[in-house]
Amino acid sequence: MVQLSTGDMLRSAREAGTPVGLRVLAVMDRGELVSDAIVSALIGEHLDLGGSSGAIFDGYPRTQPQAEALEILLEERGRKIDHVIELVVDEEALVTRITGRFTCDKCGAPYHDTLHLPKVEGTCDVCRGTDFKRRPDDNEQTVRTRMAEYREKTAPILPFYVAKKLVRRVDGMASVADVAVAIDSILDA
Ligand SMILES: [Zn+2]
Repeated sequence: MVQLSTGDMLRSAREAGTPVGLRVLAVMDRGELVSDAIVSALIGEHLDLGGSSGAIFDGYPRTQPQAEALEILLEERGRKIDHVIELVVDEEALVTRITGRFTCDKCGAPYHDTLHLPKVEGTCDVCRGTDFKRRPDDNEQTVRTRMAEYREKTAPILPFYVAKKLVRRVDGMASVADVAVAIDSILDA
């Protein structure tokens, strides 16, 4: 399957200079947000290029208008959504996970203040490096703002897909391996 991430698409459209890409470029250069209509056009362009093996939408649709636009885009192409996977998370646990993250500056190995410290304090287990870094957006305020935005704008589209019997709930607090197995079994069913 092709993964259709709107963030990646916007970046590559700019670089490729497709008709939609040129519109994106103009909007972004004016410092404005890219509209639902442009995002839909971009998704349509990628669905036409993506072949018939299926697609994973990542970060889309985020709003009710986008969900409705996607229905039309798919219908026009004789395609449909098979599954909407909801990763259910506990907000407090998520804040703890994200705010404690740091990585080795040299090799990128991931660590965590409470969940996974290096075996020797201040020394990377993998490369023995001693410098570490944190992402500036891995802070509590950013996480809570993102969650609030999700609750306000994105979560309300779930009933739209529940009514179509498409929503599959997966425990997003399980290990990465268990989440992967759960998603695989949904796709294989
Ligand atoms: Zn390292």
